[in-house]
Amino acid sequence: MTVSLGSIVGGVVRGGAETSPDLNPAQPDTHVAVVSLAGPEIAAEAVAAAAAAFAAWRDTPAPARGDVLRRAADLLDARAAEIGRDLASEEGKTLAEAVGETKRAVAILRYFAGQTLEPDGETYASHTAQTFLYARREPLGVVVAITPWNFPIAIPAWKIAPALAFGNVVVWKPAEIVPLTASHFAVALYEAGLPPGALNLVLGRGSAVGDTLVAHPDVDAVTFTGSNAVGHAIQLKATEAGAKVQLELGGKNPAVVLADADLELAVEHVGRGAFLSAGQKCTATSRVLVEAAVFDEFAQRLSDLARTWPVGDPLDERTKVGPLASQAQLETVTGYLELAAEESADVLAGGLDDRQGDGGYFLPPTVLAGLPATSRVVREEIFGPVAALLPVGSYAEAVELANDTPYGLTAAVFTRDLGRALAFARDVRAGVVKINQESAGLEFHVPFGGMRDSSSGSREQGKVARDFFTQWKTVYLDAEPPA
Ligand code: NDP
Repeated sequence: MTVSLGSIVGGVVRGGAETSPDLNPAQPDTHVAVVSLAGPEIAAEAVAAAAAAFAAWRDTPAPARGDVLRRAADLLDARAAEIGRDLASEEGKTLAEAVGETKRAVAILRYFAGQTLEPDGETYASHTAQTFLYARREPLGVVVAITPWNFPIAIPAWKIAPALAFGNVVVWKPAEIVPLTASHFAVALYEAGLPPGALNLVLGRGSAVGDTLVAHPDVDAVTFTGSNAVGHAIQLKATEAGAKVQLELGGKNPAVVLADADLELAVEHVGRGAFLSAGQKCTATSRVLVEAAVFDEFAQRLSDLARTWPVGDPLDERTKVGPLASQAQLETVTGYLELAAEESADVLAGGLDDRQGDGGYFLPPTVLAGLPATSRVVREEIFGPVAALLPVGSYAEAVELANDTPYGLTAAVFTRDLGRALAFARDVRAGVVKINQESAGLEFHVPFGGMRDSSSGSREQGKVARDFFTQWKTVYLDAEPPA
């Protein structure tokens, strides 16, 4: 039986005029659900439903808001195996990754439930004797969350959980190709006792509903993760409409392998960073800058590893690399591999000639070398299982190349020299630095975000999430002195 999905506005399921199949990227001739797509009217109703729900949710004691998040976490935890299957089936990451991501969302909900018990303000000594002077963090109001497909439950969790925990109401537009995972997440929150309207799910194409959401006068904030092009366009429109904006965009994350590195460890972590989730992570390792003395050995070992990673059905537990998430994504990554061929790159492993898996959007883990640092393959976000290796003559050259990008999300360094490691942590322009660890893989209780064109607005996750989702109100209180 085909699952039918619709938007949820003010607690009511809403269907639009057009339907769209939710495809399985491993077998695109099959689908996992059918979606009734929202248009601008439903999007506008979602904003109105959220605005109507705001005062009651804001005035719900913060610990009670936290209880709702905790109950939702318990429901998702109990359903993690089922949700993981659905996520893997519509997005293409492996079942282990998909269940792991669902558990990550559970942990994030619990973390932000805990944050509702933390202090929400500060008191100050006033220059006036009778004045009690304090400042509190208050919610913003209606928050629009626009989320991508590559982490279809964890990224929504790290936006929606803090938004709700701190008293905001949310209109959520997930990526078009992951509506089933989005529905699971929203339903768990409703079943946990979230009032209708505090979260509204809009299943519609970004191109159709985006402008209505981000330029709406009743929207107070927009938090977005996705491509730079869409993020910048949203920023302009939302800022013009007076909303606060937070963007998490792309990355072209370097891993630097110095000559003294533990090569076995470096190969394993670069492989994980570049190929897990088929490289479709903003934090993925995409450029590997290897000191010349160990370049050949590293390249050989990484290529050997890439060839051993099974590509295939994400539900098969032997699979380490599932399909790319969509036809569009496959075409984008294929385009970069064709460009690499035109530029006479050495394909050390994988590549277009090594494609397997009939019909699905599969590409093997691919290792490239011999490209100039100016190549678009080396400079632009690919979002596929592709690592480009470049030799470097020194630490200084490695840092220079690592920083030679408009992005600045994550960076990794592999070395046994603690001084060099700490120097790299200082010298590299990235919001997250990993030393002897893959560039991807984040903990949820610490700040996450990038420098330069990778992010805009305050950081996500951890305690600092409060910075974006709240605003200060300062209160000067002169009480009547006792008679
Ligand atoms: P997009 O930036 O197009 O999509 C991200 C989100 O924005 C989706 O929910 C999308 O909805 C929505 N959106 C699209 N257009 C608009 C609009 N005009 N107004 C409001 N919302 C909109 O990314 P893609 O999915 O097209 O991926 C393209 C590339 O972006 C990838 O190859 C990768 O390089 C990068 N990317 C980066 C991510 C990251 O984590 N930083 C995550 C995903 C992609 P809809 O799905 O309906 O179009």
